[in-house]
Amino acid sequence: MAKKQFKAESKKLLDMMVNSIYTNKDIFLRELISNASDAIDKRYYHALSGDNSGMAREDYKIQIVLDKDARTLTVSDNGCGMTDKELESNLGTIARSGSMDFKAGLENKSEVEIIGQFGVGFYSAFMVSDKVTVESRAAGDAEGHRWVSSGADGYTITPCDKAEVGTTVTLHLKEDTDDEKFSRYLDEYKIREIVSKYSDYIRYPIMMDTETEVPVEGDEEKTETVVKPTQLNSMVPLWRKNKNEITKEEYDTFYQSKFYDWEAPLHTIHSKTEGQISYDALLYIPAHAPFDYYTKEFEKGLQLYTNGVLITEKCAELLPDHFSFVKGLVDSADLTLNISRETLQQDHLLKIIAKNLEKKIKSELEKLLKNDREAYEKFFAAFGLQLKFGLYQGYGVHKDVLKDLVMFRSSNEKKLTTLSEYVSRMPEAQTAIYYACGETADKIDLLPQTAAVKRKGFEVLYCTDDVDEFALQMLHEYDGKHFTNICADNLDLETAEEKEALAKENEDAKDLLTFLKDSLDGAVDAVRFTGKLQDHPVCLTSEGMLSLEMEKVLNAMPNANGNAKAQLVLEINREHPVAATLKALYGTDDEKLKKYAKLLYAQSCLISGKPLDDPTAFSALVCELMV
Ligand code: ADP
Repeated sequence: MAKKQFKAESKKLLDMMVNSIYTNKDIFLRELISNASDAIDKRYYHALSGDNSGMAREDYKIQIVLDKDARTLTVSDNGCGMTDKELESNLGTIARSGSMDFKAGLENKSEVEIIGQFGVGFYSAFMVSDKVTVESRAAGDAEGHRWVSSGADGYTITPCDKAEVGTTVTLHLKEDTDDEKFSRYLDEYKIREIVSKYSDYIRYPIMMDTETEVPVEGDEEKTETVVKPTQLNSMVPLWRKNKNEITKEEYDTFYQSKFYDWEAPLHTIHSKTEGQISYDALLYIPAHAPFDYYTKEFEKGLQLYTNGVLITEKCAELLPDHFSFVKGLVDSADLTLNISRETLQQDHLLKIIAKNLEKKIKSELEKLLKNDREAYEKFFAAFGLQLKFGLYQGYGVHKDVLKDLVMFRSSNEKKLTTLSEYVSRMPEAQTAIYYACGETADKIDLLPQTAAVKRKGFEVLYCTDDVDEFALQMLHEYDGKHFTNICADNLDLETAEEKEALAKENEDAKDLLTFLKDSLDGAVDAVRFTGKLQDHPVCLTSEGMLSLEMEKVLNAMPNANGNAKAQLVLEINREHPVAATLKALYGTDDEKLKKYAKLLYAQSCLISGKPLDDPTAFSALVCELMV
C-alpha cells in the first residue's frame, strides 16, 4: 500500500511533535476531545438545519477507552465524521483555521511558543504516541475509512468497516523511557484529572469505564470492584457557574486552553447581566500582545454562544477596535440559533451587548489603573498604542471612552502619567498642557525647548510613539486645557517686558536675519532671536498646522508623496556668544556668515532629530573650522 506524504508545513510540525520536549504533553487529550466536541457540534447543527441524523441531543457523546495490554488510548465520538477526502485534507495538511498565521509564525519560534500560541490540534497526539489510527465514517457515507500514520514518514488511507457515523482516534502510546512514562496515560486517574482540568466544560458527556468499589450483595462487609461507565466532565460551562465557585486558577486555565496563550491573563472580567437582554460575559485582558496584534492579519472578536452552544467563533461586532485586544465570550439565551448562523438577524441585540461590554471594559480598566498600577502599566505597555489609535480614529469620537486610559511619559521623572494626573500637578500659572515629540524620552529630555519649559516649573508630556501627537490633536483639550507642542507653538512663557525687548532686537536685526534665512536656501521660513534658550545656542521650531514630528510620520506612510512639510523657524539664543559673532560678521564677512548659518541650522536639525539634508557638506564645514 503506497504511503502518502504530509504537506511540507505539516511535516515540520509533525517532526516537532514526534520529538517534542514540551513538558505539558497532557494537552493532547484536550485537543482530541475538542475535535470530537466540534465534530458533534457540526453534526448537531446539520440536524437542526433539517439534515436529519435521527439523533437526540442526549445521544451524542465522547468515549474514552484505555487498553493496558494493547497500550492504546482511544477517543471516539459520534460527530460528523470524515470522508476519505476529508481525512486526506484535514489530517494530511495543516487544516487549522488560522493556518496562514500559523505558517507565517512558525519560523523563528520555539516549540513552547508555538504550542502555547497556536495549540497544535490533532498532531499533538504524536507527542505521546508512535502510531495513530483514525477510523471515521461521515454522515451519509455507507462505509468508513482508516487513516494510519507512524509519524513524519507519511500516512495511508484505506476503507474499513465502521458501524456508526463518527470518528475513533486510537493512539498507540510510545514506550516508556527513564525520563518519560507514557504509560501514565493508561491510568484512569490521570485521564480523569486531565479531563476535569481542560475539558470540564465540554457540552457533551465524556464517558469512560472506570473501576469502582461497591459493597458485595448479601455481604455488606466486603467490597468488590466493578467496572461502571462514568461521566468525567461536569458539562457546565465555566461562565455559567457562580463567580464565587470559580477559582483564579480555573479562570486562568480556561483562558489559556481556550485562547491558546502560554501566559495567564492580566485581568479577568466575569459579568452576568439581566434586563432588556440577559447574558453572561467572560472577558480576559491578555498579559501580552499576540505576535500579530499590530498587523492587519489580526482579527478581533469574542466567541458568541447561546445557551452554552457556540454560534460564532469570532464575533467582531462585539468589540470596538480600541478594545480589540480583549478575548473571551458572550453567552445569551436571548439570541437564537435556528436562524442562519452567519446572517444573524440579531444585530440590534448584539449592538446593545457591545455597548454594555465597552462600558464594562472601560470601567474595569479604570479600576485596574486605580488599584493596581503595576498591572495597568503592564497592560499599557502591551496595548496602550491601540488605545491611542482609538483616540485618533473616527476623528476622536471615542475620546470620552479613552482619554482617561491613555498614559504618556513626562518630564516628571520620565514616568508614565495619565492626563488627569498631569493636570492635578499643574501650577496655577500654567494654562496649557505641554508636550514634545521625539524618539525617546531621554532625547526629548535634552531638547532646548524642554529645558525652557521645565525651568518655568511646568511639566512636559513626552510623545514617543508616532500616533501620540495625532491622538492629542484629536483630543484637542483635556479638562479645558489645550495641548501645546513646545516645539511648534508660541509658548508665551515670557513677561511683557521680555517680549518687547525681544521684538525690538528682532526688528533691529531684521536684515541680518533675512540674510541668514536666505543663506539656507528655503530650508526654513524664518530665522529669529529668542530669549528662552538659556545655555543652548539654537533650536528648530515649527509654525502652523504641521509639526516636525507630524511631517516625519506623514512622510513615512506607505503612499506618502513627501509633500507634508512643516514650516520651520530657526531660533537663535540672543544671549549666547554666537549671537554676537553673527552680528559682528554681518557686513564684514558675508561668506563666513553664510557658512555659520548652515552650521547652526544643521545643529538645530541634529538636536530635534531631523535628518540632515546633506551630512557630507556639514562634515566638510565642521572640518573647515578645525584646520
Ligand atoms: P483544528 O481542530 O484546529 O482545525 P486539528 O489539527 O485538530 O485542527 O484538526 C484538523 C481538522 O480535522 C479539523 O478542523 C476537523 O475538520 C478534522 N477533525 C479532527 N478530528 C476530528 C473528529 N474527531 N471528527 C471530525 N473531524 C475531525
